[in-house]
Formats: sequence, C-alpha cells, structure tokens
Amino acid sequence: MNLIILGPPGAGKGTQAAFIASEQNIPHISTGDMLREAIKNGTELGLQAKAVMDAGNLVSDELIIELVKERISQDDCKNGFLFDGFPRTESQAYALDSLLENFNTSISGMIALEVDDEILISRLLERGKDSGRADDSNREIIENRISEYYNKTAILKTYYQRKNCYYGVNGIGEIDEITSRIIDVMSKI
Ligand code: AMP
Repeated sequence: MNLIILGPPGAGKGTQAAFIASEQNIPHISTGDMLREAIKNGTELGLQAKAVMDAGNLVSDELIIELVKERISQDDCKNGFLFDGFPRTESQAYALDSLLENFNTSISGMIALEVDDEILISRLLERGKDSGRADDSNREIIENRISEYYNKTAILKTYYQRKNCYYGVNGIGEIDEITSRIIDVMSKI
C-alpha cells in the first residue's frame, strides 16, 4: 500500500495518518514533522525552511523532493508508506511518480479529508494553544496556509482522480467517526 493522506491544514491528517499507518504497518512520513525536526536540530535544511514555514508558505519543491527521495529509499518503505503533507504541489506529485517508477511501483490511493474553512481556522487556533507551533498561533498565518492549500495543493484532487485513486472522506465530526469512514474507504483501495 502506497498511500497519501491529503487535506487542508487542520483537517486532522496527522491524527488519522497515525491510525492508518499503524493499521497497515507502514511508515507514516510527514514532511512537516521532518522539517520541524530539521529546524530543531539546526541543520542546513532547517535553516532554509524555518522562515518560510513560520510565515505559513510552502517550502520549495526542490528541498521537499530531495527530502522525500532520501526517505523513500530507506528499507522501511519497501512494503509501502503513507505520506502526510506530501505532495503539496503538482510538481511534487510528478516528482513522486517518477521516483516511484524507479522502484516499479505507484500510488495505490489518496485519502482526502474534506472540511470547511471556518472549522479549519477554529481547530488550528485551538491546536496552537498547546502545540507551540508558530504557524498555528495567528489567524493571518493560518489563513495564508489555507490559501496556499487552495492555490497550490487542491489541484491534486484532479491529478489523482485522473489516476482513479482519489478517495474523498468527510472530515467533519468526531475523530472516531472519521476513522470509521476511512476504514470503509480503505477496503476499496
Ligand atoms: P504540516 O505539518 O504538514 O502542516 O506542514 C507545516 C509546514 O511545513 C507547511 O506549512 C509548509 O511550510 C511546510 N511543508 C510541509 N510539507 C511540505 C510540502 N510537501 N511542500 C512544501 N512545504 C511543506
């Protein structure tokens, strides 16, 4: 199973991704977590990404593709993986396809959480109180992240629909309810 979880910021991707990855026994690869780790460790990548992330903008495709290329070559990805927060642009999706071709494999499914904007903003502001994430702390930055999503990422719906592997899931409701919708969808992938 080579899976992607997609959704606007605050859709609950991280929570559901952790569940899917453990159920399928595949690694959960969050590019956002990898970047935050790089920042914490003060690496060159972290230094390049920090200001962009804090402003709620997307990090450059080149940096992200390099990061993913290295990660996907690791042994634990041999039997599949779940990407969370990647791809986020059409160029990243193309790059992922060609990386996977080298391994003679392809994406099995994209699970997309669909949630309204106003719910997203209030969820993120709430999360910002505990997470300590600079990009969750301010309404303007949150709105910028959501607009980055609609400008650059939402197009991936069409991209994966064309490949017949887009699975939309209603992302509104209790965590358990959403998980059971995902379980339903997984049986079709
Ligand atoms: P996330 O944890 O997925 O919400 O990501 C947090 C931030 O990391 C995003 O707002 C972007 O600045 C950056 N980021 C994570 N993944 C990507 C990606 N695939 N492409 C570009 N920027 C990314």
